[in-house]
This record gives sequence, C-alpha cells and structure tokens, in this order.
Amino acid sequence: MAYKFVDNYREKGARKKLVEDLKKRGISDEKVLAAIGKVKRHYFFDETFWVQAYLDKAFPIGAGQTISNPYTVAYQSELLHIKKGDKVLEIGTGCGYQTCVLLELGAKVYTIERQVKLYDRTIQVLPHIGYKAEFFLGDGSKGIAEYAPYDKIIVTAGAPLVPQILLRQLKIGGILVIPVGDEKEQKMVTVIRVSENDFDKIILDTFRFVPLLGDQAW
Ligand code: SAM
Repeated sequence: MAYKFVDNYREKGARKKLVEDLKKRGISDEKVLAAIGKVKRHYFFDETFWVQAYLDKAFPIGAGQTISNPYTVAYQSELLHIKKGDKVLEIGTGCGYQTCVLLELGAKVYTIERQVKLYDRTIQVLPHIGYKAEFFLGDGSKGIAEYAPYDKIIVTAGAPLVPQILLRQLKIGGILVIPVGDEKEQKMVTVIRVSENDFDKIILDTFRFVPLLGDQAW
C-alpha cells in the first residue's frame, strides 16, 4: 500500500461535508466534530481509494481488519467525554485513525494492537503525520495493567462480554466504551466505575465490528 500525505482542496471539502453529515446523523459534541474535521482520514488509504475516505464507511486496512466508519468513531468518542489530559487506553489500534481523533481531543493515548502488520505500519505512520501515542503490540483484551488506571478505555472490536479485567483498570469515575454481542452485531455499552466495586452499565445502539480476539474475548 502506497500512502501519500497531501491534503488537497478536494479532501478538505470532503472532510467538511463528512462533519456536516455526522451532525445530521446526531453527533452533537462540537469537540468531537472538530477533531473529525482535523484528522486527514485519506492518509489511511491508498491514493487510489481517496474518494472512499470521507464516506461514512468502514474500509479494509489489511490483515483482515477495517478502519471503522467515521460515524462509529465519532459515536464512541462522544461517549468517552474526553477531557484534556485524560489517560485513555485504546484496544484495537488498527490503522490509528481513532487514535488520532482521541489525540485531537487532548487525550494521552495508550493503544494496543494484536496484528503485527498493522502495528508495524501504524507506529511509523502516526508520528510521521504528527501524532504521538504510546503503542503496544499484544492482546489488549487483558488491558495493559502496567499503565493502569485509565480515565477512559475504548474497545474498537466486538467482544462477547465486558472483560472484568478492563473494569479493574478504570479509575473511579472512569468510563469504558465497548461493543458487546455476537459475531454478527453488537450493542455499544458504556460502563462507568462509580466506586471501587460499583459500576453503572448503559446499553446503547447496534453496531457491527470485527471480533475482539484474545484471552478475555473470542
Ligand atoms: N481503531 C481503528 C480505527 O481507527 O479505525 C479500527 C480498529 S478495527 C475495527 C479493530 C482492531 O482491533 C483490529 O485492528 C484488530 O486487529 C484489533 N484487535 C482485535 N482483537 C484485539 C486484541 N485482543 N488486542 C488488540 N487488538 C485487537
């Protein structure tokens, strides 16, 4: 795949339109919309497919995985209520698009990917286009205990259940956003850690993610 890092008027215009489309679909957090407006999603596509980059579609990124569609990225980002400086664990780096959105929102991001091919590419591309995160290769279904606790945890692949080990890595007041269901479809779930042993769970809309594989997942 040949990446090219040029932002032409056509891509700028398409990005603006994408933000308008997301507003129409119900994304209302201005900070999230601004972040989507800043991250150059076409940088994660081969130039041949740039016309696809600002459509609200998932797209193959190699290793049998996808870049999530922009609505899903915006939806999960909104649920996280990121504050500047929040320590965020992202499980499923993929190509790093969601990582960039989190960074634009002011988060300090720890991101983990299990596919070495994607990890190798993303650790090169993100710093090259100006985004700094802490990258890890491995099974994120167990979280990353060494750097816990986190203000927020986002899982970008579909899990069969909420891994309890992730809840233990949240700060009190912290939020976990995770799609939970079977391999065909998942409900977006947010869990807020309200005290040491109490968690509030909210079940939201239906999505379709690639599976979260690993010790605490499929
Ligand atoms: N966040 C990406 C984006 O910005 O579009 C999309 C990620 S893709 C939908 C889900 C990713 O989760 C895939 O790259 C997949 O390899 C990864 N994944 C699945 N199970 C994982 C696990 N246990 N640990 C880390 N990554 C995992």
